[in-house]
Order: sequence, then C-alpha cells, then structure tokens
Amino acid sequence: MLETFSVEFSGVLFVVSSIKAKVEVKDLTRVERIGAHSHIRGLGLNDLLEARLNSEGMVGQEEARRAAGMICEMIKEGKIAGRAVLIAGQPGTGKTAIAMAMAQSLGHDTPFTSISASEIFSLEMSRTEALTHAFRRSIGVRIKEEAEVIEGEVVEIQIDRPVCGSGSKVGKLTMKTTEMETIYDLGAKMIESLTKEKVQEGDVIHIDKLTGRISKLGRSFSRARDFDATAANTRFVSCPEGELQKHKEVVHTVSLHEIDVINSRHQGFLALFSGETGEIKPEVRDQIDAKIAEWCLEKKAELVPGVLFIDEVHMLDLECFSFLNRALENKMAPILVMATNRGITKVRGTNYKSPHGMPLDLLDRLLIITTRPYTNDEIRLILSIRCEEEDVKMESAALDVLAKISAETSLRYGIQLITTASIICYRRNDEAVSVSDVERVYSLFVDEARSTQFLREYQNDFLGDENVLDGDMVM
Ligand code: ATP
Repeated sequence: MLETFSVEFSGVLFVVSSIKAKVEVKDLTRVERIGAHSHIRGLGLNDLLEARLNSEGMVGQEEARRAAGMICEMIKEGKIAGRAVLIAGQPGTGKTAIAMAMAQSLGHDTPFTSISASEIFSLEMSRTEALTHAFRRSIGVRIKEEAEVIEGEVVEIQIDRPVCGSGSKVGKLTMKTTEMETIYDLGAKMIESLTKEKVQEGDVIHIDKLTGRISKLGRSFSRARDFDATAANTRFVSCPEGELQKHKEVVHTVSLHEIDVINSRHQGFLALFSGETGEIKPEVRDQIDAKIAEWCLEKKAELVPGVLFIDEVHMLDLECFSFLNRALENKMAPILVMATNRGITKVRGTNYKSPHGMPLDLLDRLLIITTRPYTNDEIRLILSIRCEEEDVKMESAALDVLAKISAETSLRYGIQLITTASIICYRRNDEAVSVSDVERVYSLFVDEARSTQFLREYQNDFLGDENVLDGDMVM
C-alpha cells in the first residue's frame, strides 16, 4: 500500500512517501517460497524475558535469546540510539535466526534493515555511502498531521500502471473536491475519466503505483479503510459520505532514507521504485536532518530508532569499521546488530589479526551475545519444525537419522535434505519420508566435509590453482 503526502517548507516541496516497502519486500520473499528462517515468528520469550525451550519457531539458545529480548525491550522503549550488538558463534548456531526473531518481535512499526556485509561491495556507490543508506533506512520518522478536506481543493493523482485491464494506460488527472465528496467517489471519478470504464463499489482495480501529489486529500485517499491495496490489486471500498469532512490526525512513518531519495531525485518518490537511488549529497541530508529536528521540537514528528542488521560483518574492511564507529555517535543512529562466525582473523584490508576480524576499538563498544552449538535433541526439534514448515511428513526413525547426520555435518545441510528426501518419498507414492529416503539423499548430495575429501582425491583432475594447499583455502 502506498501513502503519499507532501509538506511545504523553506520554499521546497518535500514530498514524503510512506510505502510499506519493508512489509512488501518481506512479503515478496516469504509468500511464494519458504525461506531459511520462515519458521521463526519471534524470540519465544515469556513475560520475564526468559526463553521457552521451544516457542515461536525458536529452539534452545536460551541465553542468547534472552539477551536479544532485552535489547528489543530497549529498542521498543525508543530511548536509546547508537548501541551496537554483536552476535558471535560457530556457523549454523542461529545467529541470523536470532536477528530475524528480533525483527519479528519488534513488529512492523520498528524499521528493520537487514544486509549482508558483502552487499555493500557490489553496489555502484562508495562503501560508506552504501552504509549510510542502510543506516538511514533503519531510522523511521513518525509524522503527525491534521487531515482535512477543504472544499475546492485541487487534487492530482497519477496512475502509471494498467487500470481495470484497460491495457497500459498511463495518466495523470487533476480534480477539485466538491462539497461532501467522499474518497471513494473522488477516486472512482478520477479512474473513470482516465480509463473511460465505470468503477463500482467493490471493483478490483489494478493499480500498482498511485501517486497523489499535492496536499491532503491525496493522502487520505490511501487510508487502508478507504483504499485497500495488496501488492497485486487495489480495491475501492465505500467510505461513508461526509467522512472526509472530519478533522483527523493522520500518522505516517517513513524512513530517513526514503525522505533523502525523494528529495534528491528529479522523479521524486518514483526513484524509490526504480531502485536507482545513487549517491545522495551530504547537503541534502543535512537539510533534512535539520528539518526533522525542527519538527521533533514542534512535536510534529518523532524519531523511531530502528535496527540495522549486518550479517557476515567480518567481510567489512577497516574503512567501513571506522565509519561504523563514527556513525554510532550520531544521535539519529539506529541500533546496530552484527553477526559473525569468525574467530581471531585478519581485519579485511590490513595485516592485523583481531577477534572476529573486527578492530578492537569497535569491539570495545559492543554488547556481545554468543551462541553455542546445539545438542542432538535441539537439532532434532529444529528439523521437525522445519518439516512442518515445509509441509513434509517424516517418520520418527528418519528424523533420528537426519538429526544424527546434521550433528555430524551441519544443521544447514540437514535442513537441505528435508525437501530433497520428500521428493523421493513422493516419487515412491508414500506419505512419510522414511530412513531409506534420507539415506538416499545423503548419498546423492555430499556435505562440505565429503566434498573436501572428494577434492583431495581428485584435485589433480580439476582445473584450478595448483598452488593452493591445505590450509590456504578461502573461507
Ligand atoms: P552462519 O554463521 O553460517 O551465517 P548462523 O549462525 O547465522 O550461521 P542460521 O542461518 O541462523 O545460522 O541457522 C541455520 C538454520 O537453522 C536456519 O534455517 C535457521 O533458521 C535455523 N535455526 C538456527 N538456530 C535455530 C533455533 N535456535 N531455532 C530454530 N531454528 C534455528
């Protein structure tokens, strides 16, 4: 759903667009496919912030979950900024799962941005600019406004996607409100005159991007009650006559990054859809920060510190780490949560070794949460939760074998075998995965250790760098 509104100040038209992008991006990855962490629904803590053994998809790791829960409480109170947390532990011990659980327990109101450190090296912008984007995406601004329909007000709506199956009509329409006009009436009238098709109450209209520029009616237009949009289609529902005459407070939450993009691109908030956000000038950000601070003082807006999660943080280099150190000093900084599975290793871009490949001065300011390896019972429980998530029935004996395999190889490898084993089970027309199905996929797909063993035996038959010796392997 899209909410758009504009605010006039300093002679500059600041169009602020609140797109529930975070929600929709998450939906895109979750609706169709079962993601690696789709079974995680929260940290599974009780009111005393103690971890339940198996709750909300989370199993074991009680201490780490409890610590993460305390961080979430601090975030929810909204009083802290610039705190940084490191989740450190061996591969596959649930670091990313815990970060995802934090996102779930914070709810959609708290901005949560998740990146992998290596992503920032692949973007077409400097590393520090990419990190700044991520930081500002993780700070929300809750803006309160009075919504009121003024008779005769000019409203402009732009439709840039096929409407009512009428092909690729693209259009822009400007209309004046008349007395007692409802959002439904006005929206329907606009679409009708643009598409020449009659819009009736309850009609499903395919509009993906609807931009209401200028003032208040356009903003009200996208209120969920009046304008129920899903990613694929948009449905008008009736709005009681006279509703818009009421004086209401409307609250929009946008991220600082969205405000940056909208104000630094010619195409305004459409830049958010094109994905070409590019580098943003520091002057634009300074101007925005000053304005937001002013609004906060006037109680027109409040900052919502969110969370920036950086996975595989050891992939950052010294320049990035010093940027993080400095950025955390800013009072608009989000809570930074990082995860790593590295021990003592070189800080990228230097010859210095350090715990987790991170500089000591940054480590010194972190709250560090550690994760520990799972017991066999915990592994079995996680695998059974994943079976349920992937809609796979597995015999108890098969689950025992899979848990044993996972303990000897890795939890991730074990999880991978669930779907593959279920395909074999399906082919032989059975309902539940059996021990032989698990054994079959175990022999078809090798784990990391057997793959390495295979390479040792046949290294000479492969193409590659002959000088690579054991221990030189890139991790
Ligand atoms: P790496 O260091 O390799 O990035 P990681 O510590 O981040 O690993 P995850 O990716 O979180 O590990 O865990 C591997 C898989 O196991 C994921 O599917 C995750 O959701 C699941 N998992 C891990 N720990 C738990 C847990 N405590 N409860 C439920 N599921 C878990």
